[in-house]
Amino acid sequence: MTSKDYMDLTEQYVLHTYNRFPVVFEKGEGVYLTDVDGKEYLDFGAGIAVFALGYGNQAYNDALKAQVDKLIHTSNLFYNEPLPEAARKLAKASGLSKVFFTNSGTEAIEGALKAARKYAYRKEQEKVKAGTARAQRGAAAVSAGNAANDGAGENVSAAESPAYELIAMNHSFHGRSVGALSVTGNPHYQEAFKPLMGGVRFADFNDLESVKAQVTDRTCAIILETVQGEGGIYPADPAFLKGVRALCDEKDILLILDEVQCGMGRTGSWFACQQYGIMPDIMTSAKALGCGVPVGAFLLSEKVANASLVPGDHGTTYGGNPFACAAVSKVFDLFEEQHILEHVQALTPYLEQQLDALVEKYDFLTARRGMGFMQGIEVEGRPVGAIVSKALENGLVIMSAGSNVLRFVPPLVIEKEDIDEMVKRLEASL
Ligand SMILES: *Cc1c(COP(=O)(O)O)cnc(C)c1O
Repeated sequence: MTSKDYMDLTEQYVLHTYNRFPVVFEKGEGVYLTDVDGKEYLDFGAGIAVFALGYGNQAYNDALKAQVDKLIHTSNLFYNEPLPEAARKLAKASGLSKVFFTNSGTEAIEGALKAARKYAYRKEQEKVKAGTARAQRGAAAVSAGNAANDGAGENVSAAESPAYELIAMNHSFHGRSVGALSVTGNPHYQEAFKPLMGGVRFADFNDLESVKAQVTDRTCAIILETVQGEGGIYPADPAFLKGVRALCDEKDILLILDEVQCGMGRTGSWFACQQYGIMPDIMTSAKALGCGVPVGAFLLSEKVANASLVPGDHGTTYGGNPFACAAVSKVFDLFEEQHILEHVQALTPYLEQQLDALVEKYDFLTARRGMGFMQGIEVEGRPVGAIVSKALENGLVIMSAGSNVLRFVPPLVIEKEDIDEMVKRLEASL
């Protein structure tokens, strides 16, 4: 079959929810991909910030093959070998206590939202027992709940409901399922699917006052990306993140950090929040967590783990299966053996210098933002999609973010010469 055959067949049978670039990839080696026509591409997208270890990592591939020959799936009704290893390594890297494995980032968000609501529900029940519940305080305790989304939550009698409101950020991205979409601050994605989950209010990222303005006595959690990814590569300001953490502590609101894209070494630490000295109560991970094997996770602090989800509250057939967990476990081992975090830290200044030089040189490249190997360059007056297409023609895979940002999320194993080569191919595409 020719590449055109693959493309035609895909469009014939696969639901058209993506406008794909006209490239059919066949294999990968290191930081290069090869298409079915034998053309090579330097990959600065890593399958959307997934393939951190590069392609064809023999130790990773061997670990997967070995697990395939042993056991792929058993369900969560039983224990298995790779699950506790993967969970222990993830808990240790994050500093959080308990892990629930999912099959994607979106599902990790769903679980995180449920854990937050369950925590608030149990807190309210404790108050009922103690005779101080909102229900007994009566209507006076209920502030004018004016949630951004009209939904089921609004139908719950306020006097009987625990704190269920969530504060999310404009221009955020947390996924496409109904729960995750409800906290995704992008009206364009939400429009056709309303009513979404109720009880969600939106604030502006990096604007602490706007977050404070959305807090009510029914707020249970604030959810945000430590570095906004899809929205255009915006790192949180340190003062903002510290302010949100302090606000959460003051009001006993849970802080959910979505590190699906910016976690797992991408910014030079296991999780980006560690560079801010901030611990979330709940955190999500996915993308590079399995380096290509579909797996995500949400993690809970001891406080939340002890007072939220219990048997019967949440589940998934595939989640935490031996195959996915063998991948996660090996990813952690290889990150340590190959000193990936140190490598990202060491090479970040060089990547930033090279990107800054581009911004300096081209007047339509107006700003660089980012942390570690998660960088964006803002483009003005030219369509980003055209640059991405041209780069593909020139053998460079690069992605966009937001409406006008070139996104650089390479495998974490790139070297200096890969950065130089990227700049060469990108310049030829400008
Ligand atoms: C990609 C992404 C998600 C969704 O993850 P999926 O694996 O695509 O479901 C959620 N949050 C952030 C920050 C992401 O970048």
